[in-house]
Amino acid sequence: MKKALVTGGAGFIGSHLCEHLVRSGWQVCAIDNLSTGRYENIEHLESKKQFRFVKGDIMDEKLVDRCAKGIDVVFHLAAAVGVRYIIDHPLESMITNVHGTEIVIRAAAKNKTMFVLASTSEVYGKNEKVFFSEDDDRIEGSTTISRWSYACTKALDEFMTLAYHREKKLKTIIFRFFNTCGPRQTGRYGMVIPRFVTQALEGKPITVYGDGRQRRCFAYVGDVIDGMMRLVACKDAVGKIFNIGTEEDSSIIELAKRVKALTKSSSTIKLIPYEDAFDKGFEDMRYRRPDLTRIFTTVGYEPKTSLDELLKKVIDYYRNESK
Ligand code: UDP
Repeated sequence: MKKALVTGGAGFIGSHLCEHLVRSGWQVCAIDNLSTGRYENIEHLESKKQFRFVKGDIMDEKLVDRCAKGIDVVFHLAAAVGVRYIIDHPLESMITNVHGTEIVIRAAAKNKTMFVLASTSEVYGKNEKVFFSEDDDRIEGSTTISRWSYACTKALDEFMTLAYHREKKLKTIIFRFFNTCGPRQTGRYGMVIPRFVTQALEGKPITVYGDGRQRRCFAYVGDVIDGMMRLVACKDAVGKIFNIGTEEDSSIIELAKRVKALTKSSSTIKLIPYEDAFDKGFEDMRYRRPDLTRIFTTVGYEPKTSLDELLKKVIDYYRNESK
């Protein structure tokens, strides 16, 4: 039986990953400080013999070391998440993403486990290419804009992971997630799909920032985990970086209209200037689309879930939550 440690295991992606691992016969230890994760996300796994939840912080070196003993793969997902959260907690976000990752990767190296880093499409920054491929340049804005500190810390995590691979021969894989969505994702930290769905279900205005013509590719978390697990099982993936997501894109205004139609909501769609939603000088990306050539050629990964199917899953989740 293979053993996994999942940091951030009670978070949105973390809890889906734990569920998948348990279902596939892995023994799983999930560690989470429940700052943005929720115990409810993994509560249903607690009755399974192969699953253990540890409420704790990745900044606790001794705890992380203990949890990493005898593990085959460390999935490092614990991080500050969400544009809103990062802007509201810039210092904590930086410390967690840099020092926290340092602690987890050191424990992985000491225990000779594989180390999987959850990174983000934010590292591409303001690059205006149509499709981002893994070796593209990063273009980041001024240090006075908090959003870029997040991109910068995740890039540093990637550098650290690559250095551990080169210098310490640690087996590593880096994933850059592009707008991953699905049930259990909360809108509290800014993510657009859960925000639009809850606004529509509550009959409140659907808040579109800027002109709504910015475009994103929304991937279903189940597809993303399928791709991750294929790569973890693939020798050729070691030491590399992979974009993971979908190439189907939508503008944010179209997204608002689709959510409104699928929920049959009477909500209005309201355009809100960025400076009212965030600080003055906030920078947003117009386009952000992954080039999936590398993951496709390495493991044949192709996302299966369309945006409408994804939205229906999220809508069902929030309808059941409110019962
Ligand atoms: N957005 C929006 N209304 C909201 C939340 C987000 O219009 O209530 C926009 C946001 O400005 C961005 C897009 O939706 O252009 C995706 O936002 P999210 O925070 O989900 O992901 P990002 O791509 O910014 O990391």
